[in-house]
Amino acid sequence: KDARQSQSIVEKDRENVWHHISQYNDKKQPVVVTEGKGAWITDYAGNKYLDGMSGLWCVNVGYGREELARAAYEQMQQMAYTSMTQSHVPGIELAEKLNELLDDDYMIFYSNSGSDANEVAFKIARQYHQQNGEPARHKFISRYRAYHGGSLGALSATGQALRKYKYEPLTSGFLHVSPPDNYRRPAGVSVKEYNLQRAQELEDKIVWEQAETVAGVIMEPLITGGGILIPDRVYVEKVQEICKKHGVLLIIDEVICGFGRTGKMFGHQHFDIKPDMVTMAKGLTSAYLPLSVTAVRKDIYKTFEDNGENSHFRHVNTFGGNPAACALALKNIEIMERENLVGRSAVLGERLQQELAELADHPFVGDVRGLGFLMGIEMVEDKNTKKPASPDRVNKIISDCKASGLIIGKNGDTVAGYNNILAICPPLSCTDEDLAFIISVVKKVFKENAS
Ligand code: PMP
Repeated sequence: KDARQSQSIVEKDRENVWHHISQYNDKKQPVVVTEGKGAWITDYAGNKYLDGMSGLWCVNVGYGREELARAAYEQMQQMAYTSMTQSHVPGIELAEKLNELLDDDYMIFYSNSGSDANEVAFKIARQYHQQNGEPARHKFISRYRAYHGGSLGALSATGQALRKYKYEPLTSGFLHVSPPDNYRRPAGVSVKEYNLQRAQELEDKIVWEQAETVAGVIMEPLITGGGILIPDRVYVEKVQEICKKHGVLLIIDEVICGFGRTGKMFGHQHFDIKPDMVTMAKGLTSAYLPLSVTAVRKDIYKTFEDNGENSHFRHVNTFGGNPAACALALKNIEIMERENLVGRSAVLGERLQQELAELADHPFVGDVRGLGFLMGIEMVEDKNTKKPASPDRVNKIISDCKASGLIIGKNGDTVAGYNNILAICPPLSCTDEDLAFIISVVKKVFKENAS
């Protein structure tokens, strides 16, 4: 590429683009991406990186899939837009397909983003309880460290103080309990016992708040953005039992876990639960186009249908469920099934975890964990005290990986402000060579940073 042209693009970026918060978009070194193919992206200067972070954006089938572009193009040519106050064939077919994948009976409400989908779930839950003769049920409980979106309601459900405190007051009625963080559980307590304690904390919260005021619990099958926290199955199943007992709706946020990331089509399918609502977004289209879904159990939906005009759900979203995004989503799911990417996620994830398990012996690694093709490496200053690793130490690993051509992420909020958990989550379509590359770079970089 012409050096002057490249330079001017970076300068224009600096001068005009307000980036979302991200460790990769620091003003010193933005990656201006121009191309993507498979698991790899290319920047303006021709540098290639394996995008080992793209899984958090859910580019599950990988970059550069012509079939996806074609599906959107063909749909746009035939009929580019109609609002979901009417209907269209890709939207109908996708809803049917999602029900097949969810293996249950849901009504599908379309929006554009994960935040949207969660907002819709909150509104539906509140209205449902009103229509069901329990108008006081308005509160939602979620977990500290969870991320559920950036709009004010979804941010209120988010349990990460650093993302929230400058924007307060947020929406009232959103409460939090501690998530299971098995690595940091008290000494002498078994994982199972500790997970049951966390579920009990949730029940205590519901009871202390007066169950008749609680509308719903929202949680991811495992906390992704807050540090890859994988619960024991006893926790998730107990949470559902508690919700049922107290008439509280269980909303499962599948925005990251959905569409194969954890080795099942949906993360909650690892457990014996039937959520009242399921929200999904990015992985639905492998992030190629904006589209999200709030799947709502049919008996909940019925209260919106049965009571005439007064019970309509008063929520409109102009772009939600647009035909091009729905057509692309159908093609995306077809690719996932054809290439068995969910099965592949489980296999590749297992291999990645076996290969990187040895990092547990590294002086600054406290825990190595994962489910499917989503892996977390928790960095600490001291293995005994578990003090989170300093930002400098974590950032050094990330920048050394990047210098070797591998992009990985970090998250956590273990102690507010510490993003000390490295996240590795490449496309599910990774080749064996890609996986070997990730393993060799991560091992090398940790070896070079052992003191
Ligand atoms: N829920 C979860 C679990 C997420 O990870 C995210 C986004 N990272 C959201 C909701 C919000 O999605 P969006 O950015 O599409 O609004």
